[in-house]
Amino acid sequence: MLDTLHFDNRFTRELPADPQAANFRRQVLGACYSRVAPTPVAAPRLIACAREVAELLDITPATCASAEFAQVFSGNKLLHGMDPFAMCYGGHQFGHWARQLGDGRAIILGETVNRAGQRLALQLKGAGPTPYSRSADGLAVLRSSIREFLCSEAMHHLGVPTTRALCVVATGESVMRDMFYDGNPRPEPGAIVCRVAPSFTRFGNFEILASRNDIDLLRKLLDYTLATDFPGMGAPGRETYIRWFREVCTRTAVMIAHWMRVGFVHGVMNTDNMSVLGLTIDYGPYGWLENYDPGWTPNTTDAEHHRYRFGAQPQVAMWNLAQLGNALMPLVEDAVPLEEALSEYSKSFDAQWQQMMGEKLGFRTFRAPSHAELISELLDVLQQVETDMPIFFRQLALLDTSSAAADEALLAPFAAAYYRPETLNDTQRQRTLQWVRRYAGQVRAEGVLEHERRVRMHSVNPKYVLRNYLAQLAIDRAEQNDYGLVNELLEVLRRPYDEQPDKETFAAKRPDWARQRPGCSMLSCSS
Ligand code: AMP
Ligand code: MG
Repeated sequence: MLDTLHFDNRFTRELPADPQAANFRRQVLGACYSRVAPTPVAAPRLIACAREVAELLDITPATCASAEFAQVFSGNKLLHGMDPFAMCYGGHQFGHWARQLGDGRAIILGETVNRAGQRLALQLKGAGPTPYSRSADGLAVLRSSIREFLCSEAMHHLGVPTTRALCVVATGESVMRDMFYDGNPRPEPGAIVCRVAPSFTRFGNFEILASRNDIDLLRKLLDYTLATDFPGMGAPGRETYIRWFREVCTRTAVMIAHWMRVGFVHGVMNTDNMSVLGLTIDYGPYGWLENYDPGWTPNTTDAEHHRYRFGAQPQVAMWNLAQLGNALMPLVEDAVPLEEALSEYSKSFDAQWQQMMGEKLGFRTFRAPSHAELISELLDVLQQVETDMPIFFRQLALLDTSSAAADEALLAPFAAAYYRPETLNDTQRQRTLQWVRRYAGQVRAEGVLEHERRVRMHSVNPKYVLRNYLAQLAIDRAEQNDYGLVNELLEVLRRPYDEQPDKETFAAKRPDWARQRPGCSMLSCSS
């Protein structure tokens, strides 16, 4: 049934392949990828399928439910026209150049072109070792596969640029993992996610070639990327390369502004995890802000320095872009235009962020300095005591902004969002009240209509996000072979801005048990 998928494998057709056909770990020079087949698995079983992604690929629901579907998207069966390969890339990890990394457990099966003419690469994550697997096994466990699957789709429905996920399949095999790298490995169920994106090219694909001084191939990859992923940018050449870098900067700024809007913390913003298309990619130890805390990172591997904490993401993205800029230096041969593009990133991000924060507060357009002061005071007030970010912004939309509102009514948006209301002291209460009064006053002064404000706020402040503990609950059940909650969450997260009265529990504050539970507030890179 899947034979209707039409493949057009441009990446492997136009770019140089690793000449070595055998699958063993190695440094791959002078090539952009290595052909490698997925490793067959014992008993593939579909856990969940995202119907919108299937639709995008012209795959019918009946096909998704078929045995063939699970066979294909676990890597057991290759379709006619597939040409599986793993990409070669490097990356800066936690600020240090890590040399060759590459797709250690991701295999692109092929590039499809759908009926609408859209090019979409299909990639299995966890389908066995590749030449880039280094010392690891090429596999993925159920918990991280479910997290990646659900989060990619949740992000898409939130309006955040992201790679998509077609499905997640249990392999029927187990994988050994030492979750917290503390000498306690245990067998876990294995799974494979099929990711979908126009391309999976990362900053690191360019960095590795520049680091090896392979300038011809660097140019070739960039020309290929321009022609394939950025048509209309102009003929290959210095000016177009600069324009392209600027475009990557702008797209990255848009992506990060969205992360800040919805409270997403990527967790591992290494340059190998940055897409040149400005898509969120590689969902590992990510997390969602529950109580607003810009210093928070879910990643225990980053516990010491919090390099990738929520509040640092805009600056980290800029640092990563600078690494990409460095990689382009041999082609541009002038740092000035690249530096200018980088400062454009800052400007562009600031503008997006201000507009977004203004909208989160229900204003039509951002007005300095009044909005800037309101926002900065709010971000302090939110940190006085633990305050749930999604709940607060949803509640704020319901605030009575008339001058007659009583103190209790004014405090309601905060009260509903507090984790420990009893810890709020008098001074903090007064400061909070002062902020709400000021906010309500600003709304009145600008003549923002209540209905208009509510609609605007509810369209940018999600009610339903993939709270860390919700993902964990779905995983707990899935580990018992019950995929009901995975599918229910997928369904709820399709409409994150809508009130879903029978799904209120999914909008609840993090329960106390989830505070210290691994998988909820603490995750490692082990996946
Ligand atoms: P990440 O930080 O998860 O994006 O991974 C960094 C690098 O490690 C990438 O090159 C991955 O392909 C590789 N990697 C991570 N986990 C595994 C694994 N289980 N087997 C092989 N390679 C892996
Ligand atoms: Mg990665």
